[in-house]
Amino acid sequence: MDYRQIPAIFVADAPGLDFLNSIATPVAEEIDWLENGEGLLAWLQQAGMVAAVALTAVRAQSSPAELDAVAAQARALRDWFREFVQKRKGRPLAAKDLNELAPLNQLLERDDQYAEIVASVTDGEAIFELRTKRRWKSAESLLIPIAEALARLVCDEDFTQVKACEGPRCTLMFADHTRGHARRWCSMAICGNRAKVAAHRKRAREQHSS
Ligand SMILES: [Zn+2]
Repeated sequence: MDYRQIPAIFVADAPGLDFLNSIATPVAEEIDWLENGEGLLAWLQQAGMVAAVALTAVRAQSSPAELDAVAAQARALRDWFREFVQKRKGRPLAAKDLNELAPLNQLLERDDQYAEIVASVTDGEAIFELRTKRRWKSAESLLIPIAEALARLVCDEDFTQVKACEGPRCTLMFADHTRGHARRWCSMAICGNRAKVAAHRKRAREQHSS
């Protein structure tokens, strides 16, 4: 199925996991929202990870082949990081897990951030603010905000509460931020309802046969 026909899925409650969920099977067929360069641009915009002006600038300065190559790098990053998370979810991270994260640190090292003073006037009063900006030198710069989201997942999330949806054929992951840590599904709309219907059918069958 074409990724353009269906909006990307943002149910993880953690941008780093939303990135892993950019390939999924929400209905019958698998959809990869990072299938090509245009897909990557559209996903970054839907995720709110890169501002629309920056995406327009990167698209204008890159060839479609360059964008497709970056999408391929993003998919490779996703495969690698999925394995890291799948191996460690459900328990706290250990110090030695850092050894596995070298590729992520190498990516973060390439960041071109700078700060800028911005002034605005509210009710005749000037307010000065220091804002972080980023130079988008090449299409590859698009990987940096993704790397940052993955790094934040490692540093800010409790991996004990990183879970995979219990839907039998579902591959979606999420961070369970509910109070009792009882979240089981990617979303009620996708897998929660499917499970409810299955349980209802089972009950009906059992009543029928007794
Ligand atoms: Zn699910």
